[in-house]
Amino acid sequence: MRIVLLGAPGSGKGTQAAILTEDLQVPHISTGVLLRAAVEAGSELGQKAKAVMDRGELVSDDIMLGLIEERLQAEDAKGGFILDGYPRNLSQASALDVVLERIGQPLDVAIQIDVDTEQVVARIAKRAQEEGRSDDSEETVRKRMQVYQEQTAPVVDFYADKGQLTRVLGEGTIEEVNHRIRAVLQTEA
Ligand code: ADP
Repeated sequence: MRIVLLGAPGSGKGTQAAILTEDLQVPHISTGVLLRAAVEAGSELGQKAKAVMDRGELVSDDIMLGLIEERLQAEDAKGGFILDGYPRNLSQASALDVVLERIGQPLDVAIQIDVDTEQVVARIAKRAQEEGRSDDSEETVRKRMQVYQEQTAPVVDFYADKGQLTRVLGEGTIEEVNHRIRAVLQTEA
């Protein structure tokens, strides 16, 4: 299965992807995780990315495309993948289509996890306390939500227009949401 997971920061994308990766036996490719690893490693890319991430803005499309292209061509992604955090704007969405076409791995489905804004803000505040991510401060979260509305929300329409989008309600328990996603995948499989 080749899946793109979409949803606002705090919508539970990462949590659901972590479960699906076990169920489907395909890698969970999270650009947030890849970037945080680069920051941790202190690479040049990581140093560039950190300041941008801490402001809640998007890392440049060039850097992201290089990162994702390389990751998608790794051996473990030959049988499918779950993309989490990419694409995050329309230009990334078109670039991804081109890459997937070129490697002969077109997308099966894009799944949008819908959660209302009040809930995601509450979830991120909780995560900030638990995990201490440096981009979970109140100000940065507000900026990330704004970036999401302005740049990422249009990606949902991009996939809808191509007939590749399914929406899933992201409220309720982690298990309930997982069941909804599984139901969608069964009809796609
Ligand atoms: P969340 O989904 O909670 O916002 P992520 O871990 O997916 O968190 O992303 C954290 C940060 O990493 C983003 O705010 C952004 O700065 C950067 N980032 C992740 N994916 C991308 C991407 N596809 N394009 C640009 N920046 C990205």
